[in-house]
Amino acid sequence: MAFIVAIDGPAGSGKGTVAKLVGKEMNLLNIDTGAMYRCASLYMIKNKISLDNLNKIADMLKYIKIEQKNVEGTERFYLDDEDVTNEIRQKSVNEIVSQVSHIPIVRERMVEIQRQMGKSTDVIMEGRDIGTNVFPNADIKIYLDATPEERANRRVKQNLENGICIDYDEILANIKYRDNNDKTSSVAPLKQAEDAIYIDTTSLSIEEVCKKIINIIKDKKQN
Ligand code: C5P
Repeated sequence: MAFIVAIDGPAGSGKGTVAKLVGKEMNLLNIDTGAMYRCASLYMIKNKISLDNLNKIADMLKYIKIEQKNVEGTERFYLDDEDVTNEIRQKSVNEIVSQVSHIPIVRERMVEIQRQMGKSTDVIMEGRDIGTNVFPNADIKIYLDATPEERANRRVKQNLENGICIDYDEILANIKYRDNNDKTSSVAPLKQAEDAIYIDTTSLSIEEVCKKIINIIKDKKQN
């Protein structure tokens, strides 16, 4: 069985950046599960599939090809062979991704793919339900958190770095909306696993958070 590090937490808690850096340092394949739900959402937007058209969604899940590749040191996401790394962060995707991710057949298929990925390769997988649902027996579970305002600030910065301009108030409103949706969902709600280590990152730098997690992994591997 592969070594699995599960990182969960709300939007903007730093999961993505931290998983990427820790993965590189500790030689773990980093998997961004939020991006998978974003790709499915983008596919639905492009193909005008409505949220309640379960037949078309089931068809989509049979054929959709979602890939994450490291290209010259950066993580890129491909939907049916097209690079959609920036497109999946757009406003139209933000607006529906939470609802798409809570459609049971979408979730079942994504979780199936995620479990498959963790079968043979050591992974650091980040999302909302990795420690509670995808890998309840993960070797290490981390729950990252920060205030909604700090998380909105981070998203604004991250978007600007990727050439996407969405204003702070709009991002903050979307973060609060998604927090609520994710935490109250009847399908795999966002919550801390009982055996997860809680880290409040509000006043920590990325380096500090990474260091903490790397130490936890090293300790675990020694025992
Ligand atoms: O992490 P990110 O913000 O890109 O995730 C987008 C959305 O996908 C989240 O708001 C959440 O609704 C959903 N998601 C999920 N389960 C995961 C990862 C993401 O429901 N494991």
